[in-house]
Amino acid sequence: MIAVGWDVAVLNRVTSVLVIACPHALGLAIPLVVAISNSIGATNGILIRDWVALESSRTLDMFVFDKTGTLTKGSFGLSNMISPPDIGDEQSLSLAAALESDSEHPIAKAIYLSAEERGLDIPAAQNFEAIKGKGVKASVGGELYYVGNPGLLRERGLLLEGEMQSFYKSANSKGQTIVFLVREEQIISAFALADQIREESYETIDRLHQQGYKVAMLTGDSEAVAKSVADELGIDVYFAEVLPENKDEKIQSLQDEGKKVAMVGDGVNDAPALTRADAGIAIGSGTVVAIESAGIILVENDPRDILRIITLSKATYRKMIQNLVWATGYHVIALPLAAGVLAPIGFLLPPAVGALVMSLSTVIVAVNAQLLRRVKNKI
Ligand code: ADP
Ligand code: MG
Repeated sequence: MIAVGWDVAVLNRVTSVLVIACPHALGLAIPLVVAISNSIGATNGILIRDWVALESSRTLDMFVFDKTGTLTKGSFGLSNMISPPDIGDEQSLSLAAALESDSEHPIAKAIYLSAEERGLDIPAAQNFEAIKGKGVKASVGGELYYVGNPGLLRERGLLLEGEMQSFYKSANSKGQTIVFLVREEQIISAFALADQIREESYETIDRLHQQGYKVAMLTGDSEAVAKSVADELGIDVYFAEVLPENKDEKIQSLQDEGKKVAMVGDGVNDAPALTRADAGIAIGSGTVVAIESAGIILVENDPRDILRIITLSKATYRKMIQNLVWATGYHVIALPLAAGVLAPIGFLLPPAVGALVMSLSTVIVAVNAQLLRRVKNKI
């Protein structure tokens, strides 16, 4: 009898310990929060591809934005052009459109569209080549042409003179982007294109500032255009005429200064910087390469969703910690009780109660994770 009684007591303790030790709550603490955070993000236009990016978003120091297509709409319109009388606007535009027909750049699309809208015949171009951060080149009717920015003119040793120079200055002062049609060593025409700042960009930058973040802008566009957009939006620091391969170097150098940096971009030229940044955020309507390189995607193309990322990141982290503390705390307290540390003062955790406590802890962890949904109203 005595032997059996002893056996039952031990068995009870062993059963209690085993039941309590079931790491359900611990195992569920993080995955449940991740799943709920993902779904909150998805219903708020935020697609999380890489958890490291969301996790990093709670401790960032700085946001770096690409200009064209990110802070601006990236849909240029042809505002003005100038061409010599012997060639004329129509022929210049159709030549430029021929060169741009193979380019995916927003400037190329604008030039091509305005040629189409005017019902111009667009000749075929051969040997198309993109010149990174500067423009394009191709041959039309056996002659080599270029369409590109002042950087291209510098590269080809061409100087702006007379009417062409006044056109450039006037468009520049309006913050318009200017590209030139060049044949051999001669500047033929100039096109002034205007982009529009996204309405939502103003609020995004203001709110990031209010929260104490530094905001920078990176663009391949000219100094004048970069300055006008940066001034208009109140951006702290901007870098103009940055070649695509140098965008990620800029991010790296900010990181070397000890800053934790988010990069927000849309273009092929932003892809390396998006990968390099602590949090790479792509605009949903951006290029496939940008989306593939980013950790988080703004599905609605609304830069204000960046503020939601920050809130979600902080709330998710808090929930994970709460759940971990709860799940480990429960084990730390309940296990010794189950093993009988308080048996000398007559307290022993019966296996049935242990099972109940174990289930309860899982329920608490699950309910606590669900409470993360309350953040949805705040983001
Ligand atoms: P961003 O950083 O502004 O998105 P990119 O690096 O794509 O710019 O291009 C930088 C600059 O190179 C543009 O602002 C434009 O002046 C010139 N450029 C690039 N592609 C083209 C093109 N297809 N036609 C004319 N100019 C171009
Ligand atoms: Mg861009």
